[in-house]
Amino acid sequence: MNHREVARDVPIVEETDVVICGAGPAGIAAAIASARSGARTRLIELHGSLGGVWTTGALSWIIDSANKPGLMAELTSRLDERGARRTRVEGGANYAYDVEAMKLLLEEMCGEAGVDVRLHTRVVAAARDSRNRLAVVVTESKSGREAWAADVFVDTTGDGDLGFVAGCGVEMGNPETGAVQPMSLMAIVTGLRFEEIETYVGGSLGDPKKRLGALMTEIGVPPSYGNPTLFRIRDDLFAMMANHQYDTKCDDAAGLTAATLRGRKEIHAQVDALRGLGGVWSEMRVVSTGAQIGVREGRRIHGRYEVTAADLLEGARFDDAVCRVTMGIDVHSTNPAKTKIVEEKPHKSRPYDVPLRALIAQDVDGLMMAGRCISGDFIAHSSYRVTGNAVAMGEAAGTTAALASGSGRLPHEVEWVEVRETMDRLSERDSLVA
Ligand SMILES: Cc1cc2nc3c(=O)[nH]c(=O)nc-3n(C[C@H](O)[C@H](O)[C@H](O)COP(=O)(O)OP(=O)(O)OC[C@H]3O[C@@H](n4cnc5c(N)ncnc54)[C@H](O)[C@@H]3O)c2cc1C
Repeated sequence: MNHREVARDVPIVEETDVVICGAGPAGIAAAIASARSGARTRLIELHGSLGGVWTTGALSWIIDSANKPGLMAELTSRLDERGARRTRVEGGANYAYDVEAMKLLLEEMCGEAGVDVRLHTRVVAAARDSRNRLAVVVTESKSGREAWAADVFVDTTGDGDLGFVAGCGVEMGNPETGAVQPMSLMAIVTGLRFEEIETYVGGSLGDPKKRLGALMTEIGVPPSYGNPTLFRIRDDLFAMMANHQYDTKCDDAAGLTAATLRGRKEIHAQVDALRGLGGVWSEMRVVSTGAQIGVREGRRIHGRYEVTAADLLEGARFDDAVCRVTMGIDVHSTNPAKTKIVEEKPHKSRPYDVPLRALIAQDVDGLMMAGRCISGDFIAHSSYRVTGNAVAMGEAAGTTAALASGSGRLPHEVEWVEVRETMDRLSERDSLVA
């Protein structure tokens, strides 16, 4: 049985140059780059803060950022200025950050760049014009249903929501089994002192993840993720990733609900059991859990190029490279019966380039993607998805979108050299201002 909705007119609340949908690491970078390049830029976000998995997801750990200049380097140094960043070892490449400091920093940076931010608003539909160009996105929020018109749109929803509703072809999961990587609900915990639990903290000598997993198992809370990890944010503040929620897809609200409830229950059981040990664990408490469960894998939108496992094997190089990925293949087990950790790598991966064409939709004009939902295969996605790359992709997509809008072109008509020169000019100017 169906309920038939009545057709209605939706007000176009804004006509602007560039609309970015989703404010995770890719979306904030796209929005800041677009606004700094001179485009009127609207950023639409479902949750109540900017940052996506960095903040709403409480991730707390950034990978593959060290070789990313521009916005990623700027974010890193601005986190340093406020004492909100910590590497495992002096000069380490990956780092932990303070989630609340990150929220504020992203709001400040979007404000400074002149990005028009709308929070608490979900993209639910889209419409193309007669020439197959994306014309509006439609949102739902406390203000009801609204339409937003722009020259260029960027899908940075992670799950590829915009590309999907706009009518793009998409892929999801392992092409052979359809299975997706498990989700994980993150937690921020306190009441611990780093020097007292160092041997259980990620990056310490020996195998701290194995040690923590063995301890949890011994006290009756065997973790559903076999590599439970504590990330040191401050000496008394840690992020904890210690659960895997299997067989749940990003487009299944009932499944997402069940996974979130299971994850939260497991986190509290783990922390209660550790606190029950007494001693160095006696004051351990959950500060917060992610408002959004961490989704490793959503839709991958068909683009003008698909990044593939072969690119990783060869260490592919492209003239229109938006970033060089150094993260290897990292498929978290899709089958808990086989392993609760990561699956065997099909082959080695060498640092490889992501070309701009993988960020431009194939089936709909005027639409770009950045972050998790770009065009790539199952294996390649498991590598490029980490946030250092998401920021670099967002920066390139936002700059391209602004150049296209400013010159009446479509994104695929913009030459990479123009994008590169614009990004270089803007980061030079910003370093002079700093
Ligand atoms: C559990 C877990 C652990 C990970 N570990 C690491 C790690 O240690 N280090 C690392 O660098 N990366 C890690 N990753 C990978 C990385 O976090 C993601 O791939 C990353 O989030 C990609 O950024 P993004 O901006 O594409 O997506 P997201 O961070 O998911 O951002 C998408 C944004 O879009 C919003 N949105 C979604 N749908 C809509 C809609 N319809 N309308 C409006 N807004 C919408 C969301 O609310 C969100 O803010 C991990 C991921 C997970 C899930």
